[in-house]
Amino acid sequence: MSYDVAIVGSGPGGAVTARECARRGLSVVVLEEGDHVEPGEVAPYSLEQMRRQYRHGGLTVALGRPPVAYTEASCVGGGSEVNSGLYHRPDPGVLDEWSRTNSIEGLSAAELARWSSLVEERLSVATAPGPLSPASEVLRRGAETLGWDGLDVPRWQRPDEAGGKGVRQTMLRTYLDDAVAAGAEVRPRVRALRLRLERGRASGVHTDRGFVSADQVVVCGGAIQTPALLLRSGIRRNVGRGLSVHPTVKVLADFDAEVNDPADLATYQVKEFAPGLTLGGSAGRPGMIALGLSGTWERDRDLPADWRRQSVYYASIRGQGSGRVRLVPGLEDPLVTYALTHRDLAALRAGLGRLMLLLGAAGARVQVPSYVGAPRVLDADQVPSAAGAMTRGNASVMTVHLCGTAAMGEDRRRGVTDSFGRVHGVANLRVNDASLLPSAPGINPQGTLMAIAHRNVDQMLEGAG
Ligand SMILES: Cc1cc2nc3c(=O)[nH]c(=O)nc-3n(C[C@H](O)[C@H](O)[C@H](O)COP(=O)(O)OP(=O)(O)OC[C@H]3O[C@@H](n4cnc5c(N)ncnc54)[C@H](O)[C@@H]3O)c2cc1C
Repeated sequence: MSYDVAIVGSGPGGAVTARECARRGLSVVVLEEGDHVEPGEVAPYSLEQMRRQYRHGGLTVALGRPPVAYTEASCVGGGSEVNSGLYHRPDPGVLDEWSRTNSIEGLSAAELARWSSLVEERLSVATAPGPLSPASEVLRRGAETLGWDGLDVPRWQRPDEAGGKGVRQTMLRTYLDDAVAAGAEVRPRVRALRLRLERGRASGVHTDRGFVSADQVVVCGGAIQTPALLLRSGIRRNVGRGLSVHPTVKVLADFDAEVNDPADLATYQVKEFAPGLTLGGSAGRPGMIALGLSGTWERDRDLPADWRRQSVYYASIRGQGSGRVRLVPGLEDPLVTYALTHRDLAALRAGLGRLMLLLGAAGARVQVPSYVGAPRVLDADQVPSAAGAMTRGNASVMTVHLCGTAAMGEDRRRGVTDSFGRVHGVANLRVNDASLLPSAPGINPQGTLMAIAHRNVDQMLEGAG
């Protein structure tokens, strides 16, 4: 059978594309390498979730000094099924910057506003009713004491009638559900191996379950897998270059009262230094706490016994560094590298210092920054030396926000696609996921990429009509 549209990947980018195409009456197939896991079937932020819904169980790393650990979801719904659900509207300043640096047309905040409204409505984006969680309250209290700006970030989470925490509005529960209702076919456990390209057009997708023929192909595999698939298909110009992330470092903080809800994480973010630096809270199941102490385990192995009084917090920067996704002959997985700049390292140290000041101001009794050999920080005087001692050699840097490896823009020297995601030189092939974002946006990116994905698919369908 041949489809009007074949979409590779069912994360936020693929789900928006599938819904909009199916609602216009096109025949749509979504090819998703990961499994279908019903929302709620596995505990959030658990090791079981990592095993079932992340690529390689979440154990993936960008090589460099320091190496940057990153995670990619791999399941129906992609990152939306596992992420924290924190929503921001696109940052107008960052959109202007991208428009300038990459010659992107039609990307102002005003132009994206209607798509953002649509996303917010469909995902029931709202701040949680009731008081802040104890882990969030720590951040708010610290910010208030220091006079820093912050906010309780809205989430795609619909309050439940019982007044509980609410139900996370993942792609499976929203956009993919709509797409299927409109006739789209979602095929889990189907891996796209390469695209078939003939005379400047894509005619379909070779998968591990056979060939899928389509009039239009849209690649939405996320910022690592999308460039890998394009490269495997022989599309090379600029592809895989410009990987941009939010390098992130963490601190374990111990308080004299319970702050840890293992099934949730802090929604409050400190934005005093945005978009360059964001301070916030991470998942804090006991396993995560132990992981955060791996660089000081000999000394700190007793700390997790009190894990309910502890939580993990992060400092996340808008990195200036850049990475690359490359193919290696004989290997199925791409090789990912990332070069943190000297300025990034300095910004991470400054961020770590600010985070520890904040947590101290909020009442942390003991803090352990997660780098090898880090000291225990017991008061504010120790913060500068503890932050300053983090080096390329001992830092433990991670990220969950990956962008930029198939950047959009009319400037063909930098971009892989035009301003709306159409791959330069291939008439009916598009990218519509986080790879399009020219750089990490300084905010949690899903809201930005979904608004852009809506705009792009609208333009594609206008063209088709
Ligand atoms: C732990 C975590 C927490 C996060 N928290 C937030 C948050 O709170 N707020 C926020 O805005 N963002 C958050 N993010 C980031 C957000 O989830 C991503 O930016 C977003 O999911 C990217 O969407 P995407 O469509 O580009 O790709 P993805 O969501 O990565 O989806 C890509 C899908 O394509 C599939 N795929 C890839 N290659 C192939 C192939 N060859 N064949 C078939 N299928 C393929 C993958 O299996 C995957 O399911 C978080 C991410 C993680 C991992």
